[in-house]
Amino acid sequence: MRIIVQKFGGTSVSTPSLRKQAAERILEAKRQGYSPVVVVSAMGRAGDPYATDTLIQLLKTVDNEPDPRDQDLLLSCGEIISSVLVSGLLKSMGHPAVALTGAQAGIITDDRFGDTRIIEVKPDLILQNLRDGKIVVVAGFQGVTQNGEVTTLGRGGSDTTAAALGAALNAEVVEIYTDVDGVMTADPRMVPEARPLKIMTYREVAEMAHLGARVIHPRAVEIAMEKGVPLRIKCTFSDAPGTLITDSGRGIEGTAIRSDKVVTGVAHIANVAQIKITTREDVNKSGLVRTVFRALADASISVDIINVFPQMIAFTVSGEVLEKALDILKSGAIDSSGLDPSSIDIEGVPGCAKVSVVGAGMRGVPGVMATVVEALYASGVPILQTSDSHTSISCLVKKDDMQKAMRSLHARFGLGL
Ligand code: ADP
Ligand code: MG
Repeated sequence: MRIIVQKFGGTSVSTPSLRKQAAERILEAKRQGYSPVVVVSAMGRAGDPYATDTLIQLLKTVDNEPDPRDQDLLLSCGEIISSVLVSGLLKSMGHPAVALTGAQAGIITDDRFGDTRIIEVKPDLILQNLRDGKIVVVAGFQGVTQNGEVTTLGRGGSDTTAAALGAALNAEVVEIYTDVDGVMTADPRMVPEARPLKIMTYREVAEMAHLGARVIHPRAVEIAMEKGVPLRIKCTFSDAPGTLITDSGRGIEGTAIRSDKVVTGVAHIANVAQIKITTREDVNKSGLVRTVFRALADASISVDIINVFPQMIAFTVSGEVLEKALDILKSGAIDSSGLDPSSIDIEGVPGCAKVSVVGAGMRGVPGVMATVVEALYASGVPILQTSDSHTSISCLVKKDDMQKAMRSLHARFGLGL
């Protein structure tokens, strides 16, 4: 059996005519001799009746801080509705199909509601249905714990469902259908000059995804990489070839990954806040550095772009948790540091964005930082903080400067050419 996994995102299944186009993609794969396993997201975006954000708002009308277990149970309905509609459509077109929830598809997860991890896939029911000649349509983004509780995988989690099924079923390829022509050199909503990339390595895409390119979930890339399952990201409504993600050349004959560019793409995270803590004392000797990061960890607040100097600690948090983080720091962390609170200054800077250049080609190449700084300086964008890895450089900028920063980096590194 040649299995193909095809995942359709929210916009790709939002209206009857779009679902028809998705169905055509599925039937085309069938005509090519594949046994399709389809993964669907909830239909549409915030405001649409069964979209994930709509369901979150619905629950908030009864409880402003809903029980995460209840929220997962409700959110899982969005994908189930989608899966039944898509399988129903396929049946109405004369093709045997069956809809399965994440639990029925054997997606077993841990019990971190809202952001669970897949720990095992038991695809028996999928395989049985495929053997019966049916197209299997799985509700994405959801799983079930060993105790039978319904869980969800976090935003973008249907990508992870698709990759996990691809790995478990030994699929020939996992296709991610979305509303853009593949992974592009930047988010086309921000950078109109952005171009689709034909071929990328898993690592490069994972780095771009971690740095904000939400076209695919980073965990999906990691799962596919582990099993060596090729990923293809394509547009549901265009015939563009899309982006093939693989390790050097696997999956297509005669093509090796060659990049003559140092930077492959520009990624962004829009809603970031910076926190700066300064003191006349040494943060290491006083223990402040320890109490700050421990207090945030205990409150499950993730920190990023972290810089520690003897008299200053700077880092970023998601904009949504800035106030909570400042409260925690001003009470707990400072009290337990043993320092005089008046000697410590805590500043929260809302309205920031993280803009990153990514490229496997920059490893060991001197001058990338110089080019980043020149581009931002030339367009008048102040840099608030930076961080880097061997394949990326990130700058924190004001959110109002985000688009300008992205476009100038995109141009300076020749990505629109
Ligand atoms: P889906 O519902 O199909 O999963 P998403 O909204 O999660 O769709 O992802 C697709 C969106 O990702 C695009 O519409 C685009 O705005 C955004 N995006 C961000 N960075 C990139 C990038 N580098 N390449 C392509 N799309 C990107
Ligand atoms: Mg997505």
